[in-house]
Amino acid sequence: MNVISNHMPTAELQALDTAHHMHPFTAGAELAKTGARIITGANGVTLTDSEGHQILDAMAGLWCVNIGYGRHELADAAARQMKELPYYNTFFQTSHVPVIALSAKLAELAPNDLNHVFYAGSGSEANDTNIRLVRHYWAIKGQPNKNIIISRKNAYHGSTLGGGSLGGMSGMQNQGVPVIPGIHHIDQPDWWSEGGDKTPEEFGLERARQLEAAILELGADRVGAFIAEPVQGAGGVIIPPSTYWPEIQRICDEHGILLIADEVICGFGRTGHWFGTDYYGIRPHIMAIAKGLSSGYAPIGGSLVCDDVAETIAQAGDFNHGYTYSGHPVACAVALENLRIMQEEKIVENVAQDTGPYLKAKWESLTAHPLVGEAKIVGMMGSIALTPHKESRAKFAADAGTVGLACRTRCFANGLVMRHVGDRMVISPPLVITKAEIDTLIERALLSLDETLEQIK
Ligand code: PLP
Repeated sequence: MNVISNHMPTAELQALDTAHHMHPFTAGAELAKTGARIITGANGVTLTDSEGHQILDAMAGLWCVNIGYGRHELADAAARQMKELPYYNTFFQTSHVPVIALSAKLAELAPNDLNHVFYAGSGSEANDTNIRLVRHYWAIKGQPNKNIIISRKNAYHGSTLGGGSLGGMSGMQNQGVPVIPGIHHIDQPDWWSEGGDKTPEEFGLERARQLEAAILELGADRVGAFIAEPVQGAGGVIIPPSTYWPEIQRICDEHGILLIADEVICGFGRTGHWFGTDYYGIRPHIMAIAKGLSSGYAPIGGSLVCDDVAETIAQAGDFNHGYTYSGHPVACAVALENLRIMQEEKIVENVAQDTGPYLKAKWESLTAHPLVGEAKIVGMMGSIALTPHKESRAKFAADAGTVGLACRTRCFANGLVMRHVGDRMVISPPLVITKAEIDTLIERALLSLDETLEQIK
């Protein structure tokens, strides 16, 4: 066989890819007809594919390349660490310098008393850890039945059995995988799709109070935690009404429920704050982190844990949980370098004060387009709802997602990665995107919207 490299013709790479690679979240048979788009390089916010196309990546990969592509400092940090100590575990009373340094840095950045980190290899694993943390914590406290975790429909918390069960995406749960016991789902705060005649504020309160109703129905002595993303990402960048989070906080406080914020997307500057919980002023007991922690340069995730939960667990003997790659030294070194750059270059501050407001103004102006209903954005995560009739917030007669998919296809053709979630289009660009690149993003989005409109006439 020839050496497989960037220099191979695209069709040959695609044939090998379809023959041997099972893609996540992909219809394999469909992919076999077209072949995958093969990305061969990237710099800043721009991807290059095997045909030489330059594509503006308005999704930062999978919401993760926060500092942008091509930062050699991270490659150097990985190489240094691989030469010095490529691997050692953190089980059985062992540690190493990168994991110590990263834990101290995270405790400094995290809000409130989230001073402790349990590492994982991904966001899904972090949420599996969170299920175990919550149940173990309440069992130690003498309340083993306080083991139900309330989550939300259309939430995404990962793809492992635990993460997929916490998540509320029916498509994932209908493929022969039952939800693990002890997970209860309430409705999401998606005003555009589900708010009916209510104002966003009324609707936000109503949806938050579903949590209280569920706690009362199930019994506060049986509910251990509520988990939610500050802003739902994969569900379509659903930015909750302003009344939602304060009411959720009140309910968790009053009923003695642990609050878990899934910061896998919102964390590390995405909202213009270090964490989505900073943006909303909420006080979680546990946060799931991943993605932007290393800007996707190395797989790493974890749970940030408050003093009470961490100390309770520490006092109770062995916590029989861990992953071979918990606190992997190379991933920790890369994450540390990523955070150093983010702080030194004031990337989060720039999102809050400069490029974020610039993008917001441009993004919100998309509502002038005939296809666009609401256009919402926080920091650098935004969505537009495509609709045939703005005033009534109507849905398209075609299957949900058909128009969104058409728009995404036009975006690709126009050199823009914008994702569709049903008939919502979402963006989450690298946080280092410049104003000129934001202009290009908006121009390509508008062109793609025009072409989509033409296509569905
Ligand atoms: N939680 C949230 C909010 C996510 O968006 C994701 C991934 O998109 C996950 C958890 C799962 O993370 P991973 O894909 O690293 O397992």
